[in-house]
Amino acid sequence: MEQRPSLSPETLAAQALGEIDPVSGGLAPAINVSTNYEQQPDGSYRQDRVYTRADNPTYEHAEGLLAALEGAGCACALFASGMAAATAIFQSMLPGDHVLVSRVLYWGVRKWLAEFALTWGLDVEFVDTTDLDAVGSAIRPGRTRLVWVETPANPMWEITDLGAVCELAHAAAVRVAVDNTVATPVLTRPLELGADLVVHSATKYLNGHSDVLAGAVLTARRDPFWERIRSWRRNAGAVLGPFEAWLLQRGMRTLFLRVRRASDSAMAIASHLHGHPALAAVLYPGLASHPGHEIAARQMRGGFGGMLSIRLVGGAEQAMAVLRAVRVFKRATSLGGVESLIEHRRSQEGPSSPVPDDLLRLSIGIEAPEDLLADLEAALDAARRTSPTLPAAAPGAQPPG
Ligand code: PLP
Repeated sequence: MEQRPSLSPETLAAQALGEIDPVSGGLAPAINVSTNYEQQPDGSYRQDRVYTRADNPTYEHAEGLLAALEGAGCACALFASGMAAATAIFQSMLPGDHVLVSRVLYWGVRKWLAEFALTWGLDVEFVDTTDLDAVGSAIRPGRTRLVWVETPANPMWEITDLGAVCELAHAAAVRVAVDNTVATPVLTRPLELGADLVVHSATKYLNGHSDVLAGAVLTARRDPFWERIRSWRRNAGAVLGPFEAWLLQRGMRTLFLRVRRASDSAMAIASHLHGHPALAAVLYPGLASHPGHEIAARQMRGGFGGMLSIRLVGGAEQAMAVLRAVRVFKRATSLGGVESLIEHRRSQEGPSSPVPDDLLRLSIGIEAPEDLLADLEAALDAARRTSPTLPAAAPGAQPPG
């Protein structure tokens, strides 16, 4: 058999693992839409696939590609959304399990935990995972089963030292799950730093074009806990469709180019805005002034990501004025797409949000960085000349992306 050369993740991504469609010889994989598979007269199935809620070749191809990018010989399961992926892990825990969760993290996960963890019997404790002493003293030996870390963490972009947290957790036989949505495997591979599980909202950078809702869980080991997560997906039915899985593999082909471009532009924009008179802070791990900069420089390879936040000296009113004044940035939730987005997180998240109301979150896309910078400069300028009133938060807000 022909030996395949060992290839870098960039090459594997560009070629989506490089397999040729065996039926047509096509470079682009076929989309397998069948929901069911033929049973042979002897009762077996040609490729052990029975029903698409469990297995489908189009999911498996995208899963194989993402597993190759996250490395460490891991396995991957795609889910219908990032939230379906995240909650599959929590729902695979047992009643009474104690779970430590990053204090700063994507709002939807915090909201789900607040609403459902109790009925699930989970004992959830929020902890500052950037503070190793706090993590160490929060671990209850024999009771804590999971540490959940998001880094860089939404929307302050706090950085958790993954290697150190994994060491602390593993000393007490506790699993570590990392939400790697923002860093992506281009910049950080948590499994290589000791994490047991990785979670993605594949809706963001992995797909990258704001046209697919998807999630993924990856595991370092195919152990009984992994089987519970797979079983949860199969039985609860939280799968994505084959069209979405196909679009996702297409999106991942350009992941490295998009993430590097977004990171370079975010770094340029953050450096330029740092010290701007209208801004109280620029939150970006690439800036030496960021409290997590040193760890990020060690942990993130080749960039600090495409996400940053700015805090306005003039408070919420000026933040909303900047939001109204932008022309190139799109006013929208979510992140990780090719187009740059700007959002007032506090009003998206609603009154219980811990996010300061002077903060705007920016997702930097792949446009010309000079256009983005000029847009922000002009909007900051326009906002300084006006003092509009703050619009009310949207009632009954849904968890935004
Ligand atoms: N994790 C992070 C860091 C996110 O930003 C999001 C969504 O914004 C999610 C998880 C949830 O993903 P989805 O919207 O695909 O359900």
